[in-house]
Amino acid sequence: MNFVERIGECDQCGECCKTVNITVIRDETLRQHRSRKELELYLSYRGICVVGEDVERNQLFYAINIPCQQLGPENQCRVHKDPEAKPFLCHSYPMEPDGTEECSYEFQPAKTLTG
Ligand code: SF4
Ligand code: SF4
Repeated sequence: MNFVERIGECDQCGECCKTVNITVIRDETLRQHRSRKELELYLSYRGICVVGEDVERNQLFYAINIPCQQLGPENQCRVHKDPEAKPFLCHSYPMEPDGTEECSYEFQPAKTLTG
């Protein structure tokens, strides 16, 4: 696995606050639904999109279009400056590059410790 170090600050673009994202086990899910097309049909009736996959890690990624209730009209997070009110996941996301172009964080290879 490649370890990466996150650098920068969240500029509150709000992109990661507009959907609920879920990761499921890819091979088991496709077996249940027989094909990705059938899976996508089933999920479309519930407002869930399949937005990607990682075959190597056996993962499928879902997104549900439910914006966070703390997302303000200008896409700013209402609890951004309150460490108690802002969920842990929101502090730590993204932990690795996820392809969101709007995100202000950058990543670089993690420094290795030398003894
Ligand atoms: S709490 Fe703030 S950072 Fe977390 S999803 Fe909601 S708006 Fe986004
Ligand atoms: S996508 Fe990145 S910059 Fe935008 S709100 Fe999320 S963490 Fe912050």
